[in-house]
Amino acid sequence: GNKSFLLARFPLEQKTRSLQAWDSADEYLINYVEEHHSDLKNIVIINDSFGALSCYFNDKANALISDSYIAHEAARYNIEQNKLSANNLDLLTCFDLPSGEVDLVLIKIPKNNGLLTHQLAKLSQILKPGTLVIGAGKTKDIHNSTSKTFEKYIGETKTSLAVKKSRLVFASFEKQAQQTPDPIKWELKNTDFIINNHANVFSRDSLDIGARFFMNFLPQTKKIKNIVDLGCGNGVIGLTTLTKCPNSNITFVDESDMAINSAGLNIQQNLGDKLDQCTFMQNDCMTGFESESQDIVLCNPPFHQQQAVTDHIAWQMFIDARRVLRTGGELRIIGNRHLDYHGKLERIFGNCKLLGSNSRFVVLSSTKEDK
Ligand code: SAM
Repeated sequence: GNKSFLLARFPLEQKTRSLQAWDSADEYLINYVEEHHSDLKNIVIINDSFGALSCYFNDKANALISDSYIAHEAARYNIEQNKLSANNLDLLTCFDLPSGEVDLVLIKIPKNNGLLTHQLAKLSQILKPGTLVIGAGKTKDIHNSTSKTFEKYIGETKTSLAVKKSRLVFASFEKQAQQTPDPIKWELKNTDFIINNHANVFSRDSLDIGARFFMNFLPQTKKIKNIVDLGCGNGVIGLTTLTKCPNSNITFVDESDMAINSAGLNIQQNLGDKLDQCTFMQNDCMTGFESESQDIVLCNPPFHQQQAVTDHIAWQMFIDARRVLRTGGELRIIGNRHLDYHGKLERIFGNCKLLGSNSRFVVLSSTKEDK
């Protein structure tokens, strides 16, 4: 393409500033659309990571569909920084459908085929026959299963040559409207609980082994506590905590909309009588939480963002936890041994206790000693 933008990766404070806010698949896609389809208006963009496509196609894009709160925030921020108009771009979750005409769909292909399936099935409910859908991704993330999914929900599918380790996928809509798959369900061991997992939820096929170990070290009290399940995923940590602290108020936080929806469903279906003690919030860490408002923060932190391995989110979570905890309040986390969360917690809280460990994981606790 021939436009240039300044793009920031999000959140801005992150330590890994060298990471780019766009990739070679974005470039390939932009160049292809400029060359072959510059006449098409009413574009829907799906899974733009940090707003590169939303900025480039700002005058033609009507909607950005993404599961990620941070992706929406980054698009909003980068559009504003580049003095583009944010008014014409609807920021939609994966459960929403774009409202107006759609002439072209540009989708960054997610690693997770379940999410791709959900998104293409959803599209099949609104596309006009002949509408072009172009996928873009890293060559290593485009498999036979990717083409099969396009074939099933959109139509005959072709892939491009690889350029700078990226590839495009093309299909024109010719199928019937289809339903999105149901959430994946499994039983939580030693309980009667059934855990629902929407397509993009962390460890959606079974309980994460870290979470399983963390279950042995959850708080237990009849007192009323304000507890946060930070990075809740399907909400198993908060759900289990609610059985051990039955009078507590629990806030479930995740940046994934599908995670928040799954956690909500899991409380409603398994502990429906405690639903009014629960709050569900899509957020970047604990942005906007009142300081000194919480007694306990429980966390199984993420260790990558989009495709990049990084610990800046864990850092931000720990820093936020210190701010929102009252004096005497506690952050309790589970982590891989080799990630040295111990050192980080020592630096942020000035203390860190080992509550338990096995060959892979440590459970750590830090107390907020003063303001
Ligand atoms: N608590 C669940 C469990 O134990 O199975 C999920 C833990 S998973 C390791 C980390 C979670 O953090 C993911 O669900 C991910 O979506 C979420 N996450 C990642 N970045 C986040 C952010 N900036 N703010 C809030 N949640 C985030």
